[in-house]
Amino acid sequence: MLTLTEITAGYGALQILQGVNLQVDEGEIVALLGANGAGKTTTLRVVSGLVPARGGSVTFAVQDITGMRSDKRVAMGLVQVAEGRELFGTLTVEENLAMGAWTANKSERREALDQVFDLFPILSERKNQNAETMSGGQQQMLAIGRGLMARPRLLMLDEPSIGLAPKLVNQVLEAVQKIRDSGVTVLIVEQNAAATLAISDRAYVIENGEIAFEGRGTHLLDDERVRQAYLGM
Ligand code: ATP
Repeated sequence: MLTLTEITAGYGALQILQGVNLQVDEGEIVALLGANGAGKTTTLRVVSGLVPARGGSVTFAVQDITGMRSDKRVAMGLVQVAEGRELFGTLTVEENLAMGAWTANKSERREALDQVFDLFPILSERKNQNAETMSGGQQQMLAIGRGLMARPRLLMLDEPSIGLAPKLVNQVLEAVQKIRDSGVTVLIVEQNAAATLAISDRAYVIENGEIAFEGRGTHLLDDERVRQAYLGM
């Protein structure tokens, strides 16, 4: 569904990605792990078109999208939920969700909203509350919900569990599984490596802008080098 081939990218004189190869198949949860500054967010931003690829190619749904504008990528179903949530604090939960649905018509919007409320009942209960009054975990669910409102085929999540208590981390990761089960493919960047590998079909580990390891989630969890370097086990 998504293929990155020899992607190079960076900021000004800084070359961050040094030739990234990565693939996500339809129906998978794929994790992208690695240390701070390794290039995880940059990889997602190249896929969503927010950072241009300097070399290599990105294909999505058998189309070369390497030079495509990011709004067109969203319309194709390639949706990124950024780290840090970027909610509109003084707007209500429902208004924030509506902002995610600019590509949809009215009935599609209704259907997407029902799906989000089904996945996160707390958002339905608090739909008239301002986003800024919600807890960290609820805000994260709202950010994911807003991403789902764009009816993605591939949802990219950048550290959705950041700053959350362990119980909420599990809740968010359970929601990620439900999202996949509903037919949306997921590419997830996470610091909580062990918990993320447990729910992932496959994973990549990025080191200094290059893929250092890849494999099935549970295999990487058992790999001694990966455990020592990234899981602190
Ligand atoms: P983190 O977990 O810290 O977000 P990451 O693996 O997602 O790590 P990136 O955000 O991709 O890493 O950043 C890779 C490198 O690029 C870092 O050294 C970072 O400081 C640098 N960088 C990121 N964004 C910019 C920018 N807009 N301008 C200049 N340098 C940047």
